Amino acid sequence: MDYRHVREVDPAVADALEGEVDRQCNTLAMIASENHVSPAVLEAQSSVLTNKYAEGYPGKRYYAGCRYADEIEELAIERAKELWGAEHVNVQPHSGTQANMGVYLAVLDPGDKILSLDLTHGGHLSHGHPANFTGQLFEVEQYYVDPETGYIDYEALEGKAREFEPDVIVSGYSAYPRAVDWERIQEVAEEVDAYHLADIAHITGLVAAGVHPSPVGIADFVTGSTHKTIRAGRGGIIMTSEEYASDIDKAVFPGGQGGPLMHNIAGKAVGFGEALQPEFREYAEGVVANARTLAETFRERGLEVVSGGTDTHLVLVDLRESHPDLTGGEAEEALDATGVVLNANTVPGETRSAFNPSGIRAGTPALTTRGFDEDAVADVGDLIYRVVDNHDDEAVLDEASERVRELCDEHPLYEDL
Ligand SMILES: *Cc1c(COP(=O)(O)O)cnc(C)c1O
Repeated sequence: MDYRHVREVDPAVADALEGEVDRQCNTLAMIASENHVSPAVLEAQSSVLTNKYAEGYPGKRYYAGCRYADEIEELAIERAKELWGAEHVNVQPHSGTQANMGVYLAVLDPGDKILSLDLTHGGHLSHGHPANFTGQLFEVEQYYVDPETGYIDYEALEGKAREFEPDVIVSGYSAYPRAVDWERIQEVAEEVDAYHLADIAHITGLVAAGVHPSPVGIADFVTGSTHKTIRAGRGGIIMTSEEYASDIDKAVFPGGQGGPLMHNIAGKAVGFGEALQPEFREYAEGVVANARTLAETFRERGLEVVSGGTDTHLVLVDLRESHPDLTGGEAEEALDATGVVLNANTVPGETRSAFNPSGIRAGTPALTTRGFDEDAVADVGDLIYRVVDNHDDEAVLDEASERVRELCDEHPLYEDL
């Protein structure tokens, strides 16, 4: 990709931008929350709409000159409604965290109570972590996965809910490889008179394509990031019923944000349009099939896969049994040196710490975008195993780096940019 205008005024930034293109093309992006958007989404996101103020909503703006902003936001909303079958959609949240903030602002007062999955068990900072505004403004209790099975302990969740009487129960996770029983959590929420927020940040694309059960129409609020499996560029989204439509819209603007990032909303419109095409379903099916193959490859080689497999785009490996002396951080570093980019992650029943956890998390959305099939992913799984198992053997690392290069060459990215 050519950043000639940036280069003219700012060679340092141009170098870094070109370096990043090269990095993405020549490494394997296996961070489960990442993906590669299409050139069309890139173009829309870097458009002149970055210049436009459009506070308000289509047809009701606080500024003149919003004709095209309106057209684009309406397209994004209509396409999102069709993709997820939602009654009401707000496409203005700047990110998934801002989407969650919109919901909390709409239904909670400071001091109200949130029940959510523990961060080390797969939850998210914006679900009530003490370092996040949610942990500072609200009273938070956690539920957990069963450390034996790796599945959410729904019975314990129900007990916690009765005891704690939360105002909001949050479902939807960052590092949970299994399908979520949305109905079951909704029943608990109704029983204790709490709202149910289903945060599908990671699995927006899988839900849109119908390869993962949808909480839309079940949970009161559904939030998501738009840059993960849905591949529509950086941003957030909120879906709800007509009943809460105006509360949500007011909570997003003026409640929690100023002007919407219209260039990002253009990216969402284009990405959602792409996701409505039949090929997107094939893509999402490929993402899940590839994650299953990755989990199977790890298991065959003796790595412990949390919950024994996956229903989604991600695989969580607990290294404690197979490699008791290797931390997730060390595995991440060795893999990064070979061009496999993934992250160290806490595992259920974590015995180390969040900074130095015992697991690694690997996702298939970005590889599947590049055209990796199950055979290629099995190759990657084998390569990851060999690096983990020989993380200080230079010869093994060199061989792995070479194989990563070949795999990248066989699956080109952003070729015609
Ligand atoms: C990624 C993620 C988010 C949002 O993250 P942003 O970086 O703010 O877009 C929210 N919830 C969950 C469960 C996530 O995994």
